[in-house]
Amino acid sequence: NSQAPGKLFQFKLVLLGESAVGKSSLVLRFVKDQFDDYRESTIGAAFLTQTIALDENTTVKFEIWDTAGQERYKSLAPMYYRNANCAVVVYDITQPSSLEKAKSWVNELKRQADPNIVIALAGNKSDLSERRVIDTETAQNYAADAGLLFFETSAKKSTNVNELFTSIARKMPLDQ
Ligand code: GDP
Repeated sequence: NSQAPGKLFQFKLVLLGESAVGKSSLVLRFVKDQFDDYRESTIGAAFLTQTIALDENTTVKFEIWDTAGQERYKSLAPMYYRNANCAVVVYDITQPSSLEKAKSWVNELKRQADPNIVIALAGNKSDLSERRVIDTETAQNYAADAGLLFFETSAKKSTNVNELFTSIARKMPLDQ
């Protein structure tokens, strides 16, 4: 792209959350605008980038680290969140355990990550409304108390995925 992007800001973003909540699917939707019902699980971590033009003078580039949710990879997570500028902690609105897991990731980030990290909570699979067990208000109240951005998303239907990443971009320090 030959057009001047104005100012380019780069941030490291890490995805965290229980296995199979849809972390890789959210990234695939955001980066490639694709969805795959039969994706293979991420092993270790995957790296992708995507840029967002916030306005004609401001472009944000995310370096995205999609971590594997399996317990056996848990010890690797600090490598990815330690120098992250922002994090998306994902749960699945049809899996109660996944919200508890998300809360424990948020607590870990608050203890161990950069104190200025911007954290968003994403309640994914919002298209599966007939199987919903976590109501919006419960998660929203938790997110507000914890100071997190909050969206219910569907990687499958592409609901709120761009909104999620754009709102993170807008919360990043863009005035250096
Ligand atoms: P990860 O382990 O957290 O990275 O989860 P994946 O992205 O691998 O997704 C796990 C499974 O959930 C896959 O079968 C996906 O197709 C499915 N999935 C992911 N996002 C959604 C969504 O928004 N809606 C529905 N219905 N299924 C989804």
